[in-house]
Amino acid sequence: MPFSLIGVAKKKGSSKMSDFINVSEIFGENVFNDTVMQERLPKKVYKKLTEVIKEGKELDPETADVVAHEMKEWAIEKGATHYTHWFQPLTGVTAEKHDSFISAPMPNGKVLMSFSGKELIKGEPDASSFPSGGLRATFEARGYTAWDCTSPAFVRQDAAGATLCIPTAFCSYTGEALDQKTPLLRSMEAINDQSLRLLRLFGNTTSKKVTPSVGPEQEYFLVDREKYLKRKDLIFTGRTLFGAMPPKGQELEDHYFGSIRERIAAYMKDVNKELWKLGVSAKTQHNEVAPAQHELAPIYAEANIAVDHNQLVMETLKKVAGRHGMCCLLHEKPFAGVNGSGKHNNWSITTDDGINMLDPGKTPHENIQFLLVLTCILKAVDKHADLLRESAADAGNDHRLGANEAPPAIISVFLGEQLEDVMAQLISTGEATRSLKGEVLQTGVKTLPDFRKDATDRNRTSPFAFTGNKFEFRMVGSNDSIAPPNVVLNAIVAEAFSDACDILEKADNFEEAVHDLIKEQASAHQRIVFNGNGYSDEWIAEAERRGLPNIKNMVDAVPALTTEKSIALFEKFNVFTEAELVSRGEILYENYAKAINIEARTMIDMAGKQIIPAVIKFTTALANSINSVKAACDADISTQTDLLKEVSALLAEAKEALAKLSEVTAKGGTMGEGREQAIFFRDEVKTAMDQLRAPIDKLEMIVDKEMWPMPSYGDLIFEV
Ligand code: ADP
Ligand code: MG
Repeated sequence: MPFSLIGVAKKKGSSKMSDFINVSEIFGENVFNDTVMQERLPKKVYKKLTEVIKEGKELDPETADVVAHEMKEWAIEKGATHYTHWFQPLTGVTAEKHDSFISAPMPNGKVLMSFSGKELIKGEPDASSFPSGGLRATFEARGYTAWDCTSPAFVRQDAAGATLCIPTAFCSYTGEALDQKTPLLRSMEAINDQSLRLLRLFGNTTSKKVTPSVGPEQEYFLVDREKYLKRKDLIFTGRTLFGAMPPKGQELEDHYFGSIRERIAAYMKDVNKELWKLGVSAKTQHNEVAPAQHELAPIYAEANIAVDHNQLVMETLKKVAGRHGMCCLLHEKPFAGVNGSGKHNNWSITTDDGINMLDPGKTPHENIQFLLVLTCILKAVDKHADLLRESAADAGNDHRLGANEAPPAIISVFLGEQLEDVMAQLISTGEATRSLKGEVLQTGVKTLPDFRKDATDRNRTSPFAFTGNKFEFRMVGSNDSIAPPNVVLNAIVAEAFSDACDILEKADNFEEAVHDLIKEQASAHQRIVFNGNGYSDEWIAEAERRGLPNIKNMVDAVPALTTEKSIALFEKFNVFTEAELVSRGEILYENYAKAINIEARTMIDMAGKQIIPAVIKFTTALANSINSVKAACDADISTQTDLLKEVSALLAEAKEALAKLSEVTAKGGTMGEGREQAIFFRDEVKTAMDQLRAPIDKLEMIVDKEMWPMPSYGDLIFEV
């Protein structure tokens, strides 16, 4: 049936219930997935392509041509006029350059739609303005995008029509990675190789491939678009730079898991629909702790696909919000004093035949392979805590990590009672002989079923928590790509596996050697395990005693990338060269300084052009009213004059702070890019920003609400 007819038939069928979503019908309908490939590609071509995808074989030009042609035909049926190589440069967002399928006009004036294997495989965007951290001088501006066939192409429909998006990696002319995807793919190869080595030692001969599985939980805020447009800080920086706390905050915790309001529910429904069409398995949604804060979690997928899908989730959350008269804020801390947003990166390692290497089984003490994997992970996290911390470093995330909020900046691992008990046995006697069991939970209500509890409770304050058969890395910023933390996780665990295999492969008595190694690793890296409250002051002191790093901000986190141990790690597994690491550090410093610079300039603009003029109007009105009262009678006007004095004093303080902020921001702007500039922005500019904010937030509490030039926190977070 021609496509247009299918379209009509579908419309007819669904017209009665326009709101009805048939999930299984729409799921993945815009994805060039395995089913579509199987249907459309000649058998031989399909077989070759799956070998490329699954076994990493080379793609030959003839196969690429056939795949490209079918992909184009399929996309055109979906209404696509253009295609784009979709990539993730180091700007923090995805990039794309659209080309239409039309080829040069024929003598009869018509055009053909064409798309070759070459165009599918390789793109050459003029990439000179993407950050390269000095890897590429502008005179050598060539950059290439290369098709990543392990992440399926998809058609995206939006106001531009429909576009065939081809996930690609982005490299320089000399092969250096300029994006998030290239190192991720390299790190996936590393963990695959080392995991297979380890599995073979335990007699596994059947698993052919091991991949990291990732499920990111995405938090976000929704605000009304009209109100959003009245706040320059939200427009330019994604967060509020001024704002007094409303009378009610999140103290009642009545928003968390609260019933979802109509407007939000309609939005979530649309978001899900869009994501399902793109093959993103959006699964869980709920209100979060802060008012106006929500969460979306998909079902976990292979790391590479999870990273791409998370970008699509973020794009979709923003795009759909516009349609509902709202704006989606992905910033880590849109409102001071209210919980911020993060992303929980759930991570495990799974074989192609379905074995999760992080599954302890019912009796972890007997599962030697699991104990080895677990202690290797402890070693990896302990040795490279600074790198993990760095992977979540971001100017916005500085407002969460180590700044009175979840999670703390100190990396530690939560194992839970059961595993901690097994570890304690291992360390004290060298052998674990029992595993704590989950007891039966009695509800005390006859009609409710009693059930067996998990052997371990949850811990919400740990940055790196074992949650049954996966680790949950909770530091990642809500706005950030999840690629860097997964690159680090894959690489550091690959290294620990490799070290273990080096020893065990040589051992005469494997059983004994494994036991010794587990015990040795458990004891040596005991300090990284912490099951208590990660938010408490006692923990900060205790962590210091244990010698664990407490890296409080992004600028201090960056050097972790280029330590000797980091360079050795990444070079050994071909994830990054030293030059790539240095360049990434440079980009991070630049990004940091730019972010703070924009925030400072936005504050200067808002304070100078909006807030101070409004306060002056208020004081003028107040002074006029004092004079009128004085002229009319001899009533006591001391309250009014006191208020006028208070406002005038705050105004003077604000004026002075504004002058100071303008001065340091200008100075920061003239400095050369790099670490020194980033430090200047952190120490001088941020301090001056705080000094300007303080009097202005106090003024907001005094000045007539009608006169305040922008919506308040209360307006923004309670009236969505
Ligand atoms: P929570 O109770 O922690 O908020 P959610 O259900 O919101 O849990 O999110 C848990 C995430 O972890 C989901 O994305 C889920 O698919 C993912 N997940 C579950 N099992 C695994 C696994 N073995 N490996 C990686 N991710 C997993
Ligand atoms: Mg969740």
